[in-house]
Amino acid sequence: MTLSPTARSTLRRLPDRARTDRAELYAVLDEALICHFAVVLDGAPRVMPTGFGRDRDTLYLHGSSGATSLRAAAGAPICVTVTLLDGVVYARSVFHHSMNYRSAMVHGRARPVVEEQERLHALRVIVEHLAPGSWTHARHPTRKELAATAVLALDLAEASVKVRTGPPKDDEPDVQAGGRWAGVLPVRSGFGPAVPCPLLRSDATLPEHVAGRGAACT
Ligand SMILES: Cc1cc2nc3c(=O)[nH]c(=O)nc-3n(C[C@H](O)[C@H](O)[C@H](O)COP(=O)(O)OP(=O)(O)OC[C@H]3O[C@@H](n4cnc5c(N)ncnc54)[C@H](O)[C@@H]3O)c2cc1C
Repeated sequence: MTLSPTARSTLRRLPDRARTDRAELYAVLDEALICHFAVVLDGAPRVMPTGFGRDRDTLYLHGSSGATSLRAAAGAPICVTVTLLDGVVYARSVFHHSMNYRSAMVHGRARPVVEEQERLHALRVIVEHLAPGSWTHARHPTRKELAATAVLALDLAEASVKVRTGPPKDDEPDVQAGGRWAGVLPVRSGFGPAVPCPLLRSDATLPEHVAGRGAACT
């Protein structure tokens, strides 16, 4: 399945970096742990970093029901970006320094999620995206906690993916001149060993869904 670019989701700058396979959108969204959503608040843009989750073609965001930007976003046009940084590109000229990345941008109107079953589902999706296994392991939200939580849904209908890979794209005279190092320094992020809460009782052992994740990435 392909993304169907609209006027505003079509890459104009370096369009050859566009990826139109919907699977690539899912891959970027599913790998990243945070997104940034932009909303216009009192006539000015505001960009908020936050967690999220994806269920098929719906992106869920959540936060305090008192959060100004989430309240402004409910029912409003928003723009969500997700960025995975893969490398710093060292070029022979400062002009051609760059980054290798995979990034996604989603445009749309945020739908407030009010129906109880969908709210719970969305929270599960968000928790399982951040911390797979925690929905089963941790206590579920109380009515009071649910009331304190706002949930928004964004359709993945209007989205774009941009990817840069590979070495620097230097000008030929700089390449021919030699003498200056150029290349890519890969950027990696991962998990370390789990650090127990100081208030942990001795009957609470490290669960596999945490231990396994830390071990897999060290
Ligand atoms: C980690 C990182 C570092 C970057 N560093 C720089 C930098 O230093 N300087 C610079 O000029 N650019 C940088 N970019 C690229 C930047 O995000 C824009 O793509 C670029 O600046 C073109 O902007 P524009 O307004 O002309 O986009 P346009 O091509 O006009 O955007 C049109 C549409 O294309 C899509 N689109 C554009 N950019 C992206 C994107 N990155 N990801 C997904 N969809 C996109 C959106 O749907 C957007 O509405 C970086 C990107 C990343 C992810």
